[in-house]
Amino acid sequence: MRAMALTTRGAHTVDEAALDVPVPGPTDILIRVLACGVCRTDLHVIDGELADGVIPVVPGHEIVGIVEQRGTQVTGLETGTRVGIPWLGWSCGECEFCLSGRENLCRRARFTGYHINGGYAEYAVGDARFSFRLPDRYDDAHAAPLLCAGLIGYRAYTMTGTGRRLGIYGFGAAAHIVTQVAVHQGREVYAFVSPGDGQAMRFAREVGATWAGASNEPPPVPLDNAVIFAPVGRLVPEALSRVIPGGVVVCAGIHMSDIPSFPYRLLWEERIVRSVANLTRRDAEAFLTLAADIPLRTHIRTYPLADANRALDDLRAGRLSGAAVLVP
Ligand SMILES: [Zn+2]
Ligand SMILES: [Zn+2]
Repeated sequence: MRAMALTTRGAHTVDEAALDVPVPGPTDILIRVLACGVCRTDLHVIDGELADGVIPVVPGHEIVGIVEQRGTQVTGLETGTRVGIPWLGWSCGECEFCLSGRENLCRRARFTGYHINGGYAEYAVGDARFSFRLPDRYDDAHAAPLLCAGLIGYRAYTMTGTGRRLGIYGFGAAAHIVTQVAVHQGREVYAFVSPGDGQAMRFAREVGATWAGASNEPPPVPLDNAVIFAPVGRLVPEALSRVIPGGVVVCAGIHMSDIPSFPYRLLWEERIVRSVANLTRRDAEAFLTLAADIPLRTHIRTYPLADANRALDDLRAGRLSGAAVLVP
């Protein structure tokens, strides 16, 4: 099969590779890939910013595909079912984290496109217990961004609590989905983008933001809480300075530049800074149920599989509104 693989740590690009079609283990499914989203985490993997991935690896953890073959122990997910395979590819099921509903923090967790070959390929294998049926209302390419931008974005969003005025820093694939969920749930979204990025501001308003402005600009009203999707550490004190007492600032990315020191008064009055790591299967079920209900409009740009490096470059340079999706 054809694949685009990361063959050298920190290569900044993926290479065309001809690989054997993978063979599913007892609990796995083999899927024919129909679409695979390109996530910012893929950039961190390919640019060598994360420490413990496997090399070589096929990146991609927003995989939409059709089940072609099932392992001997797989029940459900019959051949021909359309499924999604997200970032959490496997967790141990027996550690303190797994046993307390926090499999996202499992020390032995294996992640798709990082420890396990992912979806920048014509075929992929995933553990059936960590794969999900997808709502019919989304076609293959439009469903792909739901699997990470949507899922982990949703997890980050739920961690902000219940305040009405939500700030979002960094307006890409995750933000454009979370905004639609938040607006559907009666919240107001205040979108912060790079100063001067008029296109991102227009995009934010188009998908439902009440206000869009530059990340160093004060919002028109104080925020109840905020999510930071941009991998930029200086946004942490920036966001803290905009939330009311008791407000939560959630850092949603797997990697961020260093956070500069800031005065304690920004944290004072019970403000909270926290990160969100990975996802649980419960998040996936909750979000996909919601996505079946709310007609989320995912904005995508599709690329042939062979053009994965062009998609990565467009994401790296901020040339995308919404999400890049590879179609084999
Ligand atoms: Zn575990
Ligand atoms: Zn991702």
